[in-house]
Amino acid sequence: MAIVTQLAILEDKFGITQGSCVIGCDGMEALRMATHGNRDWLSVTNKQSDMLSATVATVDTLSVTITPLHIKGHQDDHVQYNDLDRLARMNVDMDRLAKETLHHLAQSPTILHDDYDRHPLSFILPRVDKTTVHQNMKDELYNSIMAPKLLSYWIEKKRITNGNQSNICWQSQQKANRLAPSGFRRFISKWTSNMIASGHNMKKWKMRPYSNCPFCNTEDEDRNHILVCQHVEAISGWNDALSTYISNLVKLDTCPYLIAAIQIELQTERRGETPIVVNRYPLQLHSAIVAQRQIGWRSFTEGLLCKEFVTYQSNYYKDVQSMRTGKAWAHKAIRKSWQFLFHVWENRNNKLHQTDKIRELGGRRDLIASITSERNIGLHSLPPHDFSSYFSGSNEELLKQNTEFLRMWLSVIRNARFLHKDQSLLIDNFVTNETLRKWIDLCFEQKDGQLIERQQ
Ligand SMILES: [Zn+2]
Repeated sequence: MAIVTQLAILEDKFGITQGSCVIGCDGMEALRMATHGNRDWLSVTNKQSDMLSATVATVDTLSVTITPLHIKGHQDDHVQYNDLDRLARMNVDMDRLAKETLHHLAQSPTILHDDYDRHPLSFILPRVDKTTVHQNMKDELYNSIMAPKLLSYWIEKKRITNGNQSNICWQSQQKANRLAPSGFRRFISKWTSNMIASGHNMKKWKMRPYSNCPFCNTEDEDRNHILVCQHVEAISGWNDALSTYISNLVKLDTCPYLIAAIQIELQTERRGETPIVVNRYPLQLHSAIVAQRQIGWRSFTEGLLCKEFVTYQSNYYKDVQSMRTGKAWAHKAIRKSWQFLFHVWENRNNKLHQTDKIRELGGRRDLIASITSERNIGLHSLPPHDFSSYFSGSNEELLKQNTEFLRMWLSVIRNARFLHKDQSLLIDNFVTNETLRKWIDLCFEQKDGQLIERQQ
């Protein structure tokens, strides 16, 4: 860009209308695009399309013919500078001067990247707030628009705070999310936004009458309880999940001190104990541990990793002369921590679905008992025209239907008996127990021994 701009100035100053000029450059693709390019081929999705479009437009205004010449860069890496030919030496000089200029610009408080005026011949690039979108337009625009919304959502939900959000390595979380299989991504978004099928939510969504924990039977099982349930089987499942997670961190060549810290902090949190004094960790880990405690260790397992862990792990790789990078470690470690959560969740689901617990907590047992009683009573004074179909067929066939169907069946018959003042109306758990009554949506309730219509 600078070279062709200088040429344009020279042509103008000295009235040059013909001639030729050789332009050497170590970027083969940039050279090709700038000298053989056409603005119609370029699009804003090209890297540095503003610079490239301005260069191509400037070349079009020149009278002299341009001859591009590719020069291999950094030739002084292997040959003494003075032994290089003139063009190679010019390339080395140019490289050094460019770096010095860049350094100067970076140090200057008054010159900021996006304060540059746009070149009059360049494409107009979109800007979001004060940031120009140079490439990956779809992703950049999406991130620029959605990231602030997402941040304020999580701040409102108290998952993060204004104070700690800048310490979180969002990039790693984003990458981990991009690389995770879609089913897994769905699980982790449901988990973090508390939309999982916990007892609490299933009762709230009226899909189950009881919200109890399948392990310890505590009411109102939520995400927090799933992670800290004190039942021996829940603890054992959690320990298995942790030990798989730790082996995965070992496979990633995680610093052993960092692994120990993660293990201790997660165990301390599960037991509800006060965190250990930071001084007991190696000095280099102190500030990272403090930063992560502020973000939270539960958030850590959900992928909110503090930036200092990434730096720490990066330094560790350098110390052991590993080719791995802290950034790659971070997004892989996040996926492993998601697997840890999934493991705990799966253990709880196995307990719920592979045992009799789901029949107990799912209300099916209660439904079967009440429907069987209703079928034994039969229509009684219900109008046959409307209700005989509910009593046809065998009870056995009816009870093979899914829980949702049985819930509707009982709801219709119970409400009908009440509304038709049927004397055979049974007073069982579905009338006396508030949870079960709400679950099948009864339109009446028992008050002072009387059955009365429920006030909405
Ligand atoms: Zn429990």
